[in-house]
Amino acid sequence: MGPSETTKSYSTPAHGGQTSPGLATPLRFLKGVGPRRAELLAKKGLETVADALLFVPLRHEDRTRLTPLRSLVPGQAQTCSAEIVGLSPPPPGRPRVPFSVMLRDASGYGTASWFKGGYLARVLKRGQRLILHGKVTRYKGTVQLQHPEFEIVEGDDDEQLHAGRLVPVYSSTEGLAQRPLRALMWTLVETFARGVPDVLPEAVRARRRLVPLAEALLGAHFPPSEAALVAARRRLAFDDFLLLQLGLAILRSRTARERGIAMAPPGDLVAQLRASLPYTLTGAQERVWGEIRRDMAAPDPMQRLLQGDVGSGKTVVAGLAVLTAIEAGYQAAVMAPTEILAEQHYMTFRQILGPLGVSVTLLTSSLKGRDRAARRGAVATGEHACVVGTHALVQEAVEFRRLGLVVVDEQHRFGVAQRARLRAKGEHPDLLVMTATPIPRTLALTLYGDLDVSVLDELPPGRRPIRTVARTESKRREIYAFLKDQIREGRQAYVVYPLVEESEAVDLKAATDMARHLQAEVFADLTVGLMHGRLAFEEKDAIMRRFKAGEIHVLVSTTVIEVGIDVPNASVMLIEHAERFGLSQLHQLRGRVGRGPWKSYAILLHAPHPSEEARRRIDVMVETNDGFRVAEVDLQLRGPGDFFGTRQSGLPEFRSADLLRDAAVLEEARQEAQAIVAADPELLAAPHRGLRRELLERWRGKLALATAG
Ligand code: ADP
Ligand code: MG
Repeated sequence: MGPSETTKSYSTPAHGGQTSPGLATPLRFLKGVGPRRAELLAKKGLETVADALLFVPLRHEDRTRLTPLRSLVPGQAQTCSAEIVGLSPPPPGRPRVPFSVMLRDASGYGTASWFKGGYLARVLKRGQRLILHGKVTRYKGTVQLQHPEFEIVEGDDDEQLHAGRLVPVYSSTEGLAQRPLRALMWTLVETFARGVPDVLPEAVRARRRLVPLAEALLGAHFPPSEAALVAARRRLAFDDFLLLQLGLAILRSRTARERGIAMAPPGDLVAQLRASLPYTLTGAQERVWGEIRRDMAAPDPMQRLLQGDVGSGKTVVAGLAVLTAIEAGYQAAVMAPTEILAEQHYMTFRQILGPLGVSVTLLTSSLKGRDRAARRGAVATGEHACVVGTHALVQEAVEFRRLGLVVVDEQHRFGVAQRARLRAKGEHPDLLVMTATPIPRTLALTLYGDLDVSVLDELPPGRRPIRTVARTESKRREIYAFLKDQIREGRQAYVVYPLVEESEAVDLKAATDMARHLQAEVFADLTVGLMHGRLAFEEKDAIMRRFKAGEIHVLVSTTVIEVGIDVPNASVMLIEHAERFGLSQLHQLRGRVGRGPWKSYAILLHAPHPSEEARRRIDVMVETNDGFRVAEVDLQLRGPGDFFGTRQSGLPEFRSADLLRDAAVLEEARQEAQAIVAADPELLAAPHRGLRRELLERWRGKLALATAG
């Protein structure tokens, strides 16, 4: 069966059979693929020809200029071509010794070595010619490639493809070597790229000076020049971004057309809260509150993101919004991603709103039976004006009497789909999303393109930068002495333990043992408290109250204190196993100190040889207190997928765009998306039909465009 015969029956429904012939063909039906290779390709997510065309290379190697062995420069990643003249596998029983080969080319000799390279004995042979790419070091006087990627050059290979040009290097998988994969890609690109329909409106393409799609596909895989590669990437990235931004713009324009609630009460409760605060709001808080108040007063539903570094004072701003909704006769819901965070928010909101006569309740799934039913009932009748809970508040069938405002903390885990569900509840409540992970502005547009953004870019006055140091075990005694000094001066301390889910029990035991040890042997004349997620809410609440009241001097805790704890008198935080924490987590934790007028400290105690990435994280923490900088490095280290949690958020994945590399294209795509949606909100005009089809496919069910057309 040839590819063309199978086409019709396999075109995907989303394409509605309108794709050019061939693109929906399963790869296994192509000549030279076969079931086994098809299975390997499927592992890479490649099922059809269309998938494969968008399987862009990881990188390209410039093999117009292979480096002679003699000219390899230590410290750089380079590519060379050489013959194997000797092999030295690790001796039997010593698997830790690297597998090395001796290499020769016309210029001289070199070596290559691989750790855990035992399997190479079956792969490499004397006399083979290899193309190698990797980091060069100098070892005992000779140049050495360390753990290079390599390809075995076979006599019958088409060298036009694998050498003398910018050669694509794909993410491969065991059993699927680089060369046959490249040869397959070449065939696919040559056969099908020119037939891919270009759905980008011609006017946009011309305005943004983008190459046609066929040219971009050819150039992304087998670019004739560096410039062609750059142009190709730009075009493909633009498409990815445009489809994302179009979806967000459509969601947004729909919300704007919905009728929401206009809430503009006289402001008595707000005035009371202001009067009760021991401080005045910062300029940034006033500005942001102004933005929120305007949104709430307007009849269309607020869709606002509030970004602010830890300690910038988001809570009180959210409190003002909650009071405004309540004074207008509505209820407000405050949602957090986890139960622990919900409990913490409950403590905070009860504390600031309770004295004003506002009834605040907590709804989590750990509440059971009658209590839960009673609380739900009181929410449904409107007896409770403010409800704090987890994101499950949206999912579950919790009923409100009149829900007017929803405040969501920690945007990352609250995705587009949840927002849509929320909008469906009641009378289109206003939405305020808060995030303590500040994100570079251009990047915020990708995930939050359907939200307005407010930024608290000013810390309350009198804050002093927290001094952060990195230490190892050998300094433990001095660290304890320092904590004692701080406590003697009247301050309090946190000692934080990581809690990794897989070994929760073990970690919990470590924290418990530590608390006992500290109480018995280190701080015998002081009071040590222990706080962790397994405690009942009342116990946590009691411990927090005692810590706040100064009755507990040292609070040993698992990461449950990450967000929301606010004890200005605490001036020092010791973080154990700092190498195990993520960067944003470290920054959040550190934000628990430095909240009072005293000089504050964060001590990162780490294992002697942390991984390179852990080292980077710790270094950044020591270097800066700036949350924006921390977020940037975090993004670099984790990569956008993980950083944004795009999978959870329900946004379509990028196929070839790289948020870091292509950030400049993003803004262009956003402008075009807004212009398109402004002119044609459901993409029904002829030039937009292709985009509409593509969009439906990428966003799967999440966008449900009006089905006409
Ligand atoms: P965030 O949630 O943004 O991390 P919080 O809302 O917990 O920060 O506020 C941090 C601390 O700053 C709290 O102790 C809060 O009472 C205090 N705070 C908030 N706004 C101000 C202000 N304008 N002046 C002084 N202190 C403030
Ligand atoms: Mg907070």
